[in-house]
Amino acid sequence: MKTRFVPIGGVGEFGANCAVIQTETTTILVDYGLMFPPDARKPGVDYYVVDAAALLREFPTIDALFLTHGHEDHIGGLPHLLPHRNIPMYTLPYTARLIKQKFLESPLRPLIHEAELNKPITCGDIKVSFIGVTHSIQHACSLVIETPAGRILHSGDFKLDPLPEDNHPFQSEEFQTWGDLGIDLLFMDSTNATKAGFCPSDYSLVENWEQVISRAKGRVFFTTFSSHMPRVKRLLELAGRQNRKVVFLGRSLKRHFSAATDTGYLGAQGNRIVSFDESLKLPHNQLLYITTGSQGEPRSATARILRKDYHGLSFTSSDTIIFASKPIPGNERQMALLTSDMERQGMEVVTDRDLPVHASGHAYREELAYLLMLTRPKAVIPIHGEFHHLLKHYRWLKELLTPDQDLFLIEDGDQVFLEPQGLRLEDRKPIELLPIDGNQELPLDTSTLRDRKDMMYSGLLLISLWDQPESSASTDIKMHGMVMADEQGFLSRLRAEITRIQRTQSEPPTQLVRQIRQAAKSTLRGFFNGKPLVKCIVNGQIY
Ligand SMILES: [Zn+2]
Ligand SMILES: [Zn+2]
Repeated sequence: MKTRFVPIGGVGEFGANCAVIQTETTTILVDYGLMFPPDARKPGVDYYVVDAAALLREFPTIDALFLTHGHEDHIGGLPHLLPHRNIPMYTLPYTARLIKQKFLESPLRPLIHEAELNKPITCGDIKVSFIGVTHSIQHACSLVIETPAGRILHSGDFKLDPLPEDNHPFQSEEFQTWGDLGIDLLFMDSTNATKAGFCPSDYSLVENWEQVISRAKGRVFFTTFSSHMPRVKRLLELAGRQNRKVVFLGRSLKRHFSAATDTGYLGAQGNRIVSFDESLKLPHNQLLYITTGSQGEPRSATARILRKDYHGLSFTSSDTIIFASKPIPGNERQMALLTSDMERQGMEVVTDRDLPVHASGHAYREELAYLLMLTRPKAVIPIHGEFHHLLKHYRWLKELLTPDQDLFLIEDGDQVFLEPQGLRLEDRKPIELLPIDGNQELPLDTSTLRDRKDMMYSGLLLISLWDQPESSASTDIKMHGMVMADEQGFLSRLRAEITRIQRTQSEPPTQLVRQIRQAAKSTLRGFFNGKPLVKCIVNGQIY
């Protein structure tokens, strides 16, 4: 009798959260997210997902998928998994709605079952219960996974918000009840495990937002994560008090808004929302725009308005903008440039550095300690975080846990066995993540990525020639996006090389191309500090 836990993503690197839980007869997945890569070395990669084909090769029988909440790092990979196999899914209604939206234009009908809090779902010899937690999206939950070898608590993402903007509170009593029954293993969110104290509640920010909005003379733009409908709900109330109508700008906000409306989440507050066209007729001091782009993303509504590239809308010096967000590591510079441009235009820019206008959705240490106190697990394993967060979480837990509580530090690629005699770890080969270009939603292979990188950093070298000796004079070389001091010197050296190769070469064009590429690369070395993409055209055919 044993249960195996295998983290596939999100343990050692942020995002692409996914884990396998397997008993002798049943296999389930918890979450199937994507990972955003703020990584300039991978141009055009919008996100990464778990390689579904590899996952299904290693775990050929996956019986069900349980989703903790609707953030992209937990559900965003589904469009890349379900076409391989339409696995039945169980989740709370808001998350279910967001998943359905992902497949509106797909022939695939996801097999999605809406679960209820504290009503266990049986899948083979595994039983899963959804326990309500507070987070930065509605209907987030932890999962209690009962297996023949023991009871596992998967925290999902959570914080302890005593005043949530919905009737979906952190279910302390449920956690305590499960604690009384006995939790053998707790997997716990590490995102803010480096931070002491309690994470502020979103409620505590309202005063600050209101202070900024009440003194604004013109329009107010409020940018935040589009999935944060609990925050949007508070803003709608605030807009009512400040006599402003609310306009949503940006596709992902509208998507979340429609899921929130469908599930009745926003209630009567939805009346304050006006369309973009209606907003153009209203005086500036009666408008509150909620926009995407809280990370300064170049394609977001906020960045496009700044570039005057959003349906004729542009910022003016009487506008105020509130950035209710914290830059994801790697985005700081992008954000700083954006806010500088706004300030240069005379706008009032308020970020979390000026005034507390943002709070995280993840538990700080006191909240993690609270969950430990409620559930008293026999063993704890930190999950959800970069290795740094996992390590800090692990070290802090080491101080905190009693000697009879076990503690393990693992990463994607490890596996944990829960057995009657306790826990055991084993190594495993990690499953790779696939890079996805969001425009195509297709995985990119390594040669495509290499070509993009070469072109982006060094440009493109084009060589066109005819392999009949009499037309060798017509060799044409063009450089795109390349600058070099001695261009003429390079061109004549390369031409000479090509003529030499052509004279000795009687092989098929592919051989000729290989030799010319080689010659181009070695000739470049003396003239140019970079590795451009080299393309050859032989007899009008591109290689
Ligand atoms: Zn989340
Ligand atoms: Zn997450």
